[in-house]
This record gives sequence, C-alpha cells and structure tokens, in this order.
Amino acid sequence: MEYALVTGGSRGIGKAICLRLADMGYNIIINYTSNDEEALKTQALIKEKGVDVQLMKFDVSVTADADSHIETWIKDNSEHSISVLVNNAGIRKDNLMVFISPDDWHRVLDITVDGFYNVTRHIVKSMLTKRKGRIVNIVSLSGLKGMPGQTNYSASKGAIIAATKALAQEVGKRGITVNAVAPGFIKTDMTQDISEADYKAMVPMNRFGEPEEVAGVVAFLVGKDSSYVTGQVISVNGGLYS
Ligand code: NAP
Repeated sequence: MEYALVTGGSRGIGKAICLRLADMGYNIIINYTSNDEEALKTQALIKEKGVDVQLMKFDVSVTADADSHIETWIKDNSEHSISVLVNNAGIRKDNLMVFISPDDWHRVLDITVDGFYNVTRHIVKSMLTKRKGRIVNIVSLSGLKGMPGQTNYSASKGAIIAATKALAQEVGKRGITVNAVAPGFIKTDMTQDISEADYKAMVPMNRFGEPEEVAGVVAFLVGKDSSYVTGQVISVNGGLYS
C-alpha cells in the first residue's frame, strides 16, 4: 500500500492536504505535535473515505523523535511504502528583528528547517531505493519576497525554497520530484489574528485563500500530470506580488 506522510496534517492546510490525498487513494499518516483532539477528528474524516489512516505524533524539530517514529514505521511496514511526503508543519513567531528573542528565532527555524531535515532524510532514503516518490514542501510568500516583522519566518521558508531546488537536482535521476508550494494569506488558525477585512485589499483577488485551494496544487504536484515538474515553487496567493 502507498502512504502519504503529511507533517502538521491535523489542522489547517495540512488537514486539507490529507483529505485531498485520501480522495486520490493514498493511505495517510498524519503527523502533529500536541492537539490530539483535532488530530482524532481529522483521522475520523479520512477514515470515512475508506483508506487507512494513522497518527504519528512527534515534534518534527526533535531529531531523536523523528528518527524513532519514522524508522520504526519503515521497519514495521516493509511491504508498504511512503511514496508521498508533504513537509507542512510550521509556526509563526512574528516580531521586528530587534525584538525577536533567541527562543522565537530558534523555534521557527528549528520546526521548519530542522523539521524538514529530520523527516525528509529518512523518507528520501526509502524513495531512492524504490526509485519513486513525490516531496512537496509548504513554504510561503514570506520566503520568496521577505516580509517585515517576519525575519525568522522568512529565513526559514527561504531556506526550504533553496533546499527544495538542491534536493530536486540530487534525486531527479531516481524518478523523485521535489517541489514547493508558497501560500499567501490562507484562512487557518495560523492567520486568525490577521483580519481579512483589513488585509484583503492587498490581494488582487480581494480575499484570503482557503486551505483546499493550497491542497489542490499539492494534489497536482503529487499526481501524474506533474511527472516532469521538479525544483519549482508554485505560489497560491491570489495574485500577490512575489
Ligand atoms: P496551523 O493551522 O497552525 O496548523 C499547524 C499544523 O502544524 C498543526 O497540525 C500542528 O499540530 C502542526 N505543528 C506545529 N508545530 C509542529 C511541530 N513542531 N511538529 C509537528 N507538527 C507541528 O497552520 P497552517 O496555517 O495550516 O500552516 C501550515 C503550513 O503552511 C505552515 O508551514 C505555514 O508556515 C504555511 N503557510 C501558511 C499560511 C497561512 O496563511 N495559513 C501562509 C503561508 C504558509 P498541532 O495541532 O498538534 O499543534
């Protein structure tokens, strides 16, 4: 059986991606870190679609936890494979650069950048053996153009954009694609402190996006129609300049 692992798959954009990939027939592994209630709700919704769905609770920034969960899964599921990885887990800790505490700097970088490394290195190894795989990294407009008040977040997403391009060149020969999706303002818990009424005028389409609109682009990058697309960053931002 083929599985898709979505980090931060229990809420928001990750949840929409899990549901969409389940519709495509993938069995789903939902990673999350603390909110069991939302993870169980998402698991139940996916189960209704008739695919297998497993929870894998660990903090992607903790190398030892990522190692043990993923290595154990691979060992216990030798007849199955994780052929899709979506690196989606991320947080914001916005502030002007001079006020960013060391904790807030490192937390954002640790989850996005170390999280990408901790999870991807295991999965890509098994994809290389199987000569097949799709990796999609959820980045941000902030990582493309930089956003004031988000130096830590912009740095983390910019790093993943560069890592996407580097890894795509490493693994292309083995039939593995690596791409990134860069959302703008999307309606999730992460943006609940940003008023759509106040900020939508910045967006040419005059509205914030829905998580499902990001999931649709991820589905394209995972599906057959993108077989010759790799090392790319696709923006999903209603036309915001990037
Ligand atoms: P969200 O609603 O806050 O959901 C975040 C998800 O990530 C939750 O499932 C959460 O799990 C999980 N998570 C957080 N820290 C984690 C960790 N250390 N280890 C494992 N899982 C962790 O966020 P979202 O808006 O859907 O954002 C998803 C991704 O899209 C992020 O990378 C974000 O930077 C990016 N993005 C979002 C927007 C936007 O406008 N929303 C725009 C651009 C980019 P728990 O439930 O257990 O906390």
